[in-house]
Amino acid sequence: MIRAPFTPKQVEVLNEFQNSGVIHPFTCAECGRDLLATEQGWICSTLICRYTQDWAHAFMASREALETMAEGTLYGQMARMKRQSQ
Ligand SMILES: [Zn+2]
Repeated sequence: MIRAPFTPKQVEVLNEFQNSGVIHPFTCAECGRDLLATEQGWICSTLICRYTQDWAHAFMASREALETMAEGTLYGQMARMKRQSQ
């Protein structure tokens, strides 16, 4: 498990995990919407709720884990196409 503050690199991958559909995203305990990772920790994506969360599963900060878990999914195919076009 990792705890905030997160590095910019961790934030990037945490949010990719949230949007990937590979795992069930972290959600706000107040409104149920997806959480958004920031360097200070998770906040509600509505920016209205005061709900915060200061931890994440360690694998959620690993791009390698994301790509492995996304293998065979639509998200994984899109990520691969994006990489090949760079
Ligand atoms: Zn909320």
